[in-house]
Amino acid sequence: MTKRRDETRTTDTLDRLRAEIEDRNPAQPEFLQAVAEVLDTLAPVLADRPEYAEPGLVERLCEPERQIIFRVPWQDDRGRVHVNRGFRVEFNSALGPYKGGLRFHPSVNLGIVKFLGFEQIFKNALTGLGIGGGKGGSDFDPRGRSDAEVMRFCQSFMTELHRHIGAHTDVPAGDIGVGGREIGYLFGQYRRITNRWEAGVLTGKGPGWGGSLIRPEATGYGNVLFTAAMLRERGEDLEGQSVVVSGSGNVAVHTIEKLTALGANPITCSDSSGYVVDEKGVDLDLLRQVKEVERARIGTYAQRRGASARFVPGGRVWEVPADVALPSATQNELDGNDAAALIRNGVKAVSEGANMPATPEAVQLFQRSGVAFGPAKAANAGGVAVSALEMAQNASRTAWPAVRVEEELARVMADIHTTCRETAARYGSPGDYVTGANIAGFERVAEAMVAQGVI
Ligand code: GLU
Repeated sequence: MTKRRDETRTTDTLDRLRAEIEDRNPAQPEFLQAVAEVLDTLAPVLADRPEYAEPGLVERLCEPERQIIFRVPWQDDRGRVHVNRGFRVEFNSALGPYKGGLRFHPSVNLGIVKFLGFEQIFKNALTGLGIGGGKGGSDFDPRGRSDAEVMRFCQSFMTELHRHIGAHTDVPAGDIGVGGREIGYLFGQYRRITNRWEAGVLTGKGPGWGGSLIRPEATGYGNVLFTAAMLRERGEDLEGQSVVVSGSGNVAVHTIEKLTALGANPITCSDSSGYVVDEKGVDLDLLRQVKEVERARIGTYAQRRGASARFVPGGRVWEVPADVALPSATQNELDGNDAAALIRNGVKAVSEGANMPATPEAVQLFQRSGVAFGPAKAANAGGVAVSALEMAQNASRTAWPAVRVEEELARVMADIHTTCRETAARYGSPGDYVTGANIAGFERVAEAMVAQGVI
């Protein structure tokens, strides 16, 4: 009874706090969405742990420690000058150096970087590997740019960023639009400016110069392992299941690879021009040739694949019937209508490879319909977990064999799954991985913040 009353009180406080955050951060809908999704689940833990409900703690958690915005001028191959905007949001360092990727995409703005940085705090806490939360990027569009243009952009970006980062301060990595090529150019410029061979300043490096094996695979592999763990809870496994995957970048490609290895049938992939459905299962070599080597549009895959594949221009993969759905493209790519279509077609599990790909309405529909739902903070944490393992290898000047990294990745994903499941059950929401991930991540960060005082 008392507990119920406490919960009502904390819900009122959280609602007030949410309104204040909305007032202070206008025109940042993705950030507000990410904050609301977390605050909506915290009432039971704040009622149970008064020390975490102390005035100011949640306010501090929702305000970045530091936000950096800078000009990034660069010249294209014809000598024309372009001016982009660069961002790094250093959100929370209670558990370790700020850690999180850089996104290069025309949609990037401060609100997007803040949403990603906020998510990263909880995701990184769930890995248990001592990393804080941050994120950065630019509204630069790498599509159609030559290698030389991308290099000049990266050099200009790092010329400002270098003064804010460091192996013990802030450790960026990749995200959408930032892969091995960009990390190479960024690392080169950091080394040149600082005159330091500081491997631990960036992760996602090439394996020959300080990178970890399995880092490129880790996000996709990790999400498939998380999905398998959710299915196991229900007495099922992935073998023989048909899976719709969205996207065709690093996460999607390695999701498809792991699904195939485990005997599932990934039947779709997509980009912003539409999607491909391939009843025989996506041919990974062809997909990589089209997207990674030729950097062409996804329709090219269907043209070359033959009868089993069909290109649907402008369509969304969620209209394709399947047992499992793994959104692996970008935020808010799966809305309420998409969720309803998946549920109508009998989907059993949905797990987020991208960051916040399902809208709040979609998440609610899945949960109400009894579909197992893996939130990004837990399900896609494998990428940043292996980044933390890359930092560990760099710090000890060693390189681990792939099997060791894969074993550690599997252990971290199994731990995250168990922690989310147990935390959800402890707070009265069995089977609710959203509540489990938010509360478990929050507890770890809150404990460190309380111990370290009001800073
Ligand atoms: N961008 C990835 C994420 O969303 C990885 C970040 C990292 O490895 O630091 O978690």
